[in-house]
This record gives sequence, structure tokens and C-alpha cells, in this order.
Amino acid sequence: MEESTATIQSNLLQIHFNSGMDGQYVLDPAADVFVKVNPAFCELVGYSAEQLVESKTPLATGSLVHPEDRELVTTQRKQAARPGERGSLRFRVVLPEGEVRTLEICYSVVNHVGRILHVGSARDVSEQVKLESKLRSESDYNRELSLEAQRAAKENQKKNIEIAEANTRISALAEVLRAIPVLTKRLLELKSLADVFKETAQTMVGDAGFASCNILLKNAGGELEIKTANPACATIKLQPNAGTLYQAVLQGAQSLAIDEQGAHIAPITAAGEIRGILHVGLPKNLARFYKNHTMVAQSIKDLVTTIADFLGLVISNHENLERVTLASRTDNLTGLFNRRVFEENLTIEFRRALRYQRDLSLLILDIDHFKKVNDTWGHQQGDAVLEAVGTLLKGSFRDLDSVCRYGGEEMCAILPETVGEAARSKAEYLRRKIEELRIPLLNKPEENMQVTVSIGVACVSKTTISEDQLLREADSALYECKSNGRNRVLLAKPT
Ligand code: GH3
Ligand code: MG
Ligand code: MG
Repeated sequence: MEESTATIQSNLLQIHFNSGMDGQYVLDPAADVFVKVNPAFCELVGYSAEQLVESKTPLATGSLVHPEDRELVTTQRKQAARPGERGSLRFRVVLPEGEVRTLEICYSVVNHVGRILHVGSARDVSEQVKLESKLRSESDYNRELSLEAQRAAKENQKKNIEIAEANTRISALAEVLRAIPVLTKRLLELKSLADVFKETAQTMVGDAGFASCNILLKNAGGELEIKTANPACATIKLQPNAGTLYQAVLQGAQSLAIDEQGAHIAPITAAGEIRGILHVGLPKNLARFYKNHTMVAQSIKDLVTTIADFLGLVISNHENLERVTLASRTDNLTGLFNRRVFEENLTIEFRRALRYQRDLSLLILDIDHFKKVNDTWGHQQGDAVLEAVGTLLKGSFRDLDSVCRYGGEEMCAILPETVGEAARSKAEYLRRKIEELRIPLLNKPEENMQVTVSIGVACVSKTTISEDQLLREADSALYECKSNGRNRVLLAKPT
């Protein structure tokens, strides 16, 4: 009975083995052969039971495995060497027609009559693997997508920062630029160059935000002088090579130099000549953009050059105006002030003398027998005489005094703060000096001629009520000199 039960069980197992839906196998790992396979397994691997088990030379189990997975299978087999151990594994097999399937096997290690065997079942998981790989690639794609989104977000953030920076830059630049038209307009209205320099420095630092602004001009000796000594502006800190940079700019070798601190040095050119430099420290708000932004750097360069050029123009305008003003106040032939200036100054000085009870003297000088000079040597020689006397007079008075050509061969000098006797002796000194003058003849330079002058002197006294009265008194004194033989000086007596 026991035996028949065992037989029945064995038969049932056989049936179960043979008709199972999953592929079943028993393999001898040491011999690398199948001991038993069911039809479903044969179906899975595409070989018959005959080829796998029953033949005298059954196929090596490893030969079914895809070459790329053989190492994996071998390793797994080595690890599963002890009875009772279980495992599962996925690998590919190659069917006789070349089809590749992915199998998933589950196995146990058993000891059957002293022989180590693997008892396992196998399933075709090719579809599942395909699906999984598709899913994996889709999730990769999704991950890729989200990475791309992150990158885009970062890029966007960067752009936003760039835009914010650009806005800061533009507004800082605008602040700088806004100040300039206001400055240039203001400069044109200023009367003195000292004010122009002061205003430039104040606007460049105060309104346009430059770190410092200094104007340095060459003096008569060719040395640079700071024209903007202004406590509101940072004073120049000369860099070690600053002198060289200044020279390069002053000599025209560089139209713009930039020192190690980023300060810009531009030439100031007036009337075609480099007169000095404009030295400007980088605007505080723009300094950090300066290096990496060509637009900002270029704007600052342009701006500094423009201001320097503009200063040059203002300087030459002032010089022209000075020249024109001087010309309109000067007599061409003698280089002395003209009659208009004489009248203006006499009025000013007379009022001042009266108001503050100060001394004031007036000299009227007339060349003796000047008509004879013209008649004897010609009009041109007459001019040469006027010129020589003018030059002598011009160099003979204090800055305070004004010497003018009154007209013809008459000249006047206004001497503020001078009492009558001092004025008379001054006149006497001039008379003598003129008498000593040797004026070369134009057509015979080796020969020369002499002239004499008569000088009438008048001073403001308690009884002087107008500048005309003073003028009349001096003129009377002069007339008296002429009557008394010329080449003399007379101090008018107060009337
Ligand atoms: P007196 O000693 O009395 O002053 O005699 P005078 O000859 O100097 O005086 P008069 O007024 O008779 O002559 C002045 C002359 O000066 C007449 C005029 O032709 C001449 N004259 C005036 N202006 C100029 C000038 O710019 N150049 C020249 N060469 N002569 C001038
Ligand atoms: Mg005269
Ligand atoms: Mg005369």
C-alpha cells in the first residue's frame, strides 16, 4: 500500500512536472547538463528534450545563454553551491532560430543521492523587460525633462539677475549722463575759468557720482597745477606710474589713459594745444561693472573725453573773449589802454577817492612838437615814436595805475593813492626817461632821434567836484608847460 502510494505520488509529480505551465528543469551545475526538463521549458528555450537531456551528447546548459549574460549565470551558479540555497536570476537565452528571450529563473539547490542539483522553474519575462525598459526610458525622459526645466529655471534666474544688474547699470549710467548736459550748460554761463573748474569738479563728483575730479593745467613754466583745489573733491593720489601716464597724455601719445585704480586721464586741448589734463576717478556706482561691461567702460571713456574736450572749448572761448575784451580796451599802436578805458577808470577812481577821501592824481602827457616829427621824418616815424613812448610808459607804472592813450600824441595816467608831490616827481622821472630815449630812424637804423614831453599833473583836493575838473586842471598845467617852453612838468595848483 505504502509502495503504491509512493508510486501514485511519483506519478502525480511526474504529471505535474510534465504538464506545468512554467518551464521546469533540473540541472547538474558541475556537469553543465540538464538532468530533466519539462515540455514548457523546451518551449521556452526552443530545444527539444532529446537535444537537452536524452541525447548521448546533450547541449551544455551554458550554450543556451546569451553570450553577454554567460558570466552572470556562471557567477550565480558558483555562489549557489550548497543544498538548501535558493536564488532567482534574469538572463537572456538565444533560441536556435536566433530569437532572444529573457528568462527569469527561480531555483533551489538540492542534494540528490550525493549529487548537487539545481531544481528550478523558468518564465519568459521578455515582454516585462521590454515594458520595464520602456518605462525606464520614459522616466529617464521625464527626469531629462525636469532637468531641462531646472536648467531653464536657472537660466531664467541668471537672466533676471542680469536684467536687474543691467537696470542698476543703466540707472547708474543715466545718473552720470544726466549730470552732463546740466554741467555743460552751466559752464557756458560762468564768467571766470576758476568758477568753471570748480563747477566741473563739483558736478562730476556731487551730481554725476565720480569718485574724484581734478583739472590740472600747465603753467607758464610747463608744470602741472591743480586748478580744482576743492575740499569737496578727493585730491589726486598719484599712482607710481601716474607721472608717465600724465606725460603720455600731455604729449599727445595717448588720447586717454587709465591708471591702475581705473582713474581716467584725458587731455584738455585749447586752440590746438594740449594745456593740461582732466583726471577723473571711476564713478562709485559703476566701478564694479567697469571691467566686464564694454558698454559701461566705453560710456565712461566717452564721457571723460567729452568733458575734457568741452573744458578745452570753454578755455579757448574764455581766452578769445579775453583777447577781444583786451583788444576793445587797448590802443593798437602804443599797447596802452584806450580813451574809453581811461574815462571809465577815471570815473571809478574819482568816485572812490571822493567817497573814501583817498588821494588821486592825474597826469596828462603831450609830445612836444610832434607835428614836426611827422613833417621831418614822416608819419611812420611818428608812429614809431608813439610806440616807443607807449612801451616806456607801459613799463613804468604800478598795476594799480592805468596808463592810456588819450588821443593823438597825448597820454594820461591815473594814479590812485598818490599825493600831488609824488605824482609830480613821477612825472618828472618820466619826462627825463623820455628825453633819454633814443628812437632809431626807420629808414636809417644806425641813426636815432629824440623827443621831449610836457606833463601836466593835477590831484584831487577838497575843492575838486568832478573828474572833468581834474582833467581840466591837468590840461591847464600842460598848456602852461607848453607856454613856458615845453619839456617840463607842472603840478596844477588847487583852484
Ligand atoms: P605841441 O608841442 O604844442 O604839442 O605841438 P604838436 O606839434 O605836438 O601839436 P599839434 O597838436 O600841433 O600836432 C599834433 C600832431 O600829431 C598832429 C597829428 O597829425 C599828429 N598825430 C596825431 N595822431 C597821430 C598818430 O597816430 N600818428 C602820427 N604819426 N601822428 C599823429
Ligand atoms: Mg597834442
Ligand atoms: Mg604835442
